[in-house]
Amino acid sequence: MTTLRADRSFAEECDATDPLASFRERFARDDPSLIYLDGNSLGMLPLATAERIADVVRREWGAGLVRSWEHWIDLPRRAGDLLGRHLLGAAPGQVLVCDSTTVNLYKLARAALDAQPGRTVIVTDDDNFPTDRYVLAGVAAERGASLRLLRTDIDTGVTPDAVAGAVDGATALVSLSHVAYRSGALADMAQITGIVRDAGALMLWDLCHSAGSVPVELDACGADLAVGCTYKYLNAGPGAPAFLYVAAALQDALRQPVQGWFGQREQFLMGPEYDPVPGIGRFLTGTPDVVGTAAVEEGTRLLAEAGIGPLRDKGTRLTSYLITLADAWLAPLGCAIASPRDAARRGSHVCLRHPEAWRIGRALIRSRVIGDYRTPDRLRLGPTPITTRFTDIWDALDATRRVIEDRAYEEFPLEPARVT
Ligand SMILES: *Cc1c(COP(=O)(O)O)cnc(C)c1O
Repeated sequence: MTTLRADRSFAEECDATDPLASFRERFARDDPSLIYLDGNSLGMLPLATAERIADVVRREWGAGLVRSWEHWIDLPRRAGDLLGRHLLGAAPGQVLVCDSTTVNLYKLARAALDAQPGRTVIVTDDDNFPTDRYVLAGVAAERGASLRLLRTDIDTGVTPDAVAGAVDGATALVSLSHVAYRSGALADMAQITGIVRDAGALMLWDLCHSAGSVPVELDACGADLAVGCTYKYLNAGPGAPAFLYVAAALQDALRQPVQGWFGQREQFLMGPEYDPVPGIGRFLTGTPDVVGTAAVEEGTRLLAEAGIGPLRDKGTRLTSYLITLADAWLAPLGCAIASPRDAARRGSHVCLRHPEAWRIGRALIRSRVIGDYRTPDRLRLGPTPITTRFTDIWDALDATRRVIEDRAYEEFPLEPARVT
């Protein structure tokens, strides 16, 4: 990009020529003064989603009642195919929107391990998101397998070399996050997937922090399995159902452990024994969350309209700008960048390291700048490409500089809250 300048007029120029600028108006903005840099934790509410949810509730449920199941029944596949086409690089019939990321991870990890007899090791990294580590440890314990933890630098993430050094003939499954939840480090999906498959193991990607912000090409990379959530960059709302991907060639060889009736052949014959359908449908469990899945469809449509290419381009420009300003203003105040500096190795959020990160974050919220805190001493700032302006970055970093200079954070309790 052109040279980044630290004066605010530079940010104003970037906003004036931003091809995605108008999308900002498509979101609920009850407080125009709020600078929201936490869309990577809970995305903002698209206005179209509020309307769609009202319609699903009032018309489809309120008036249609049980008759609406005629079309609701296909919703998990329909929303999955839409997501696959626009944001995951997945051909139809390989993605479902259902359950939570945690539950989908369990379903796919268990199925993958069971499909690899004689291989008894699951590999992940010691800085993977907690739910991933806990679920994989649980699956390993359940099946008498072991969990091998890669040692990972929390600021730079997992490297292909580290993965190559950890897989062998005993490895059944490797499961990693595409974008690290804390640092935003972006793993090389194509290279790592190739290494894992060459070792005869299956690869399961967690796309929670990449879906909707970074182009993902699951089919082209030869990925076997993936999961991810929809309430971050996909803006589908708190607790909206997650997604799962199973490559077509693998589907019928896998059997997932939650043998629910939505995966059953001739579901409404209510047969005596579980007999899963062929294809992606066997990875469904029970009755889907219709309201939440409708919100996933709307969120996906909005990002598809913007296009993942332009979203990624703006995302890298926003985070590069954030890093430039942090280097100029915050480094002299004791703040270090705790994310990859190479934009190609970074998702759409950045962490700043400071011993007072927790209290600085609290003071920023009072100044109407919302980011979040991550252990041990990180302030995480997530500029969501579809809603964030360059001037938001300038104003947020300016506010951060003042909070640190004035020691405004000292008024806040040292002890982190229950939810950070
Ligand atoms: C947000 C996130 C999750 C969340 O899982 P839930 O089941 O929705 O609570 C899982 N993995 C990663 C990497 C995440 O960032």
